[in-house]
Amino acid sequence: MGNIILTGDRPTGKLHLGHYVGSLKNRVMMQNKGDYDKMYVMIADAQALTDNFNNPDKVRDNIIEVALDYLSCGIDPNKSTIFVQSHVEQLTELMFYYMNLVTLARLERNPTVKAEIKQKEFGPSIPVGFLTYPISQAADITLFNANIVPVGEDQLPMLEQAREIVRAFNYYYGEVLTEPKAIVPDNKICSRLPGLDGKAKMSKSLGNCIYLSDEEAEVKKKIMSMYTDPNHIQITDPGNVEGNAVFTYLDAFCNDDDFSEFLPDYKNLDELKDHYRRGGLGDVKIKKFLNNIIQKELSPIRQKRKEYEKNIPEIFDMLLKGSEQAIEVGAETLEKVKSAMGINYFKDIDLIQKQQEKYR
Ligand code: ATP
Ligand code: MG
Repeated sequence: MGNIILTGDRPTGKLHLGHYVGSLKNRVMMQNKGDYDKMYVMIADAQALTDNFNNPDKVRDNIIEVALDYLSCGIDPNKSTIFVQSHVEQLTELMFYYMNLVTLARLERNPTVKAEIKQKEFGPSIPVGFLTYPISQAADITLFNANIVPVGEDQLPMLEQAREIVRAFNYYYGEVLTEPKAIVPDNKICSRLPGLDGKAKMSKSLGNCIYLSDEEAEVKKKIMSMYTDPNHIQITDPGNVEGNAVFTYLDAFCNDDDFSEFLPDYKNLDELKDHYRRGGLGDVKIKKFLNNIIQKELSPIRQKRKEYEKNIPEIFDMLLKGSEQAIEVGAETLEKVKSAMGINYFKDIDLIQKQQEKYR
């Protein structure tokens, strides 16, 4: 079997630079290289509802935002299937069978879920839907037989959980499912891009993001107010590069060509870092440099988005078509799953005959 890719994002807001370097850029690259058989990109609205059940409008409003971000980054609906999770009801059914294969203790050990529970301040009132979302993700991946899942580092525990479910399923019911593999970016920083505040992760929920659709002035404002080294007060002071969000972003985004284009006094990032460490290099200069690099990356995305924004009904149409394709594939997998589990009673002529023979 060839390569089948599945990824997705929660429609809880517009997509940000973390999504872009963590996963989206990889997806577009793979899509354009074409060395895969099928690529599915899912807008995970049902998953988003597990911690936004009290605010369905937020999820509803952000479906189109995520779709616009996908299209403007280069996800091409002619090459990839973009679909909406809740529309594919086979996912829910598959999850229901998977729930038997996972213990509560196992769910409670998931480090990403643990961190999110703390961050969301659920206390002891954790919604069951939220705690079980890794099972739902296993269904998302396996319903499409995906073997490759390009994600940020926070998703690795979900992939591990999915692999365990696949192994358990195949053990009990026969080799039906494919074990998926995560693809994280080579650049460690890109696999978990920190927030503008220097905090562990750029995340919609933490409000420390540069959104792909932010206007030029907004991006600049955010970069100019970024966290650097609090002890680097005068330009002449020696500065710290480690833990300095501007340098972390430069590590993630800049390459040597950016120096010849925007900052020709330096050959590469090492030279710039050395100067900063020695003292004599101001924060404004490095922030302006970073701003140029980020604007160069975002400006074509922003422009494409403005075009797509004129055709909202067409985009909903595209999402519906994608979801219908997803349903077709999903129905096939579910048939296989149910027949492996022996719960396809009405299609199993042998079963019906055997049950009759019992009474002959
Ligand atoms: P939420 O706060 O609603 O959970 P989020 O910002 O964490 O939103 P998700 O929709 O949960 O975004 O994540 C979608 C994909 O983007 C996942 O593959 C995830 O690993 C990746 N991702 C999200 N944030 C980052 C980040 N800061 N760095 C790298 N990858 C990221
Ligand atoms: Mg998240």
